[in-house]
Amino acid sequence: MTIFSKIISGEIPCYKVAEDDNFLAFLDINPVAKGHTLVVPKKEVDYIYNLDDETLAALMLFSKKVAKAIEKVVPCNRIGISVIGLEVPHAHMHLIPINTLDDMNFSKPRVTVAPDEYVSLAAQIAINI
Ligand code: 5GP
Repeated sequence: MTIFSKIISGEIPCYKVAEDDNFLAFLDINPVAKGHTLVVPKKEVDYIYNLDDETLAALMLFSKKVAKAIEKVVPCNRIGISVIGLEVPHAHMHLIPINTLDDMNFSKPRVTVAPDEYVSLAAQIAINI
């Protein structure tokens, strides 16, 4: 079972942003930028391009709703979208508020977000969905 499946089942906590029957969005615990959100299909599939067509398309549409909400809460030029998957073998999209190209750089030091700030970010994004 992946760490994301444990988050989906509630075994491990997360700062939840949005959820429906098939997808969960929550704040990344080691974010590249404040508001960095992960969107995960509940179906446990490692590689994103091994998702069935319907789930892959719906994942993008779910991400769109979440991205529109993030940009209302976090001042930014736009929401960058990225798929890596080298750390957690459970398909997911990264949604990241960006202003410059460097804001999408996963090699740079991550930002620190205090627990109460995580709670408030997740709550504000959630109410904008
Ligand atoms: P990737 O698999 O796309 O290379 O990276 C996985 C991402 O998931 C990383 O940005 C990492 O910070 C995040 N991550 C890993 N474990 C957890 C976790 O337990 N909770 C949350 N919220 N994020 C996690």
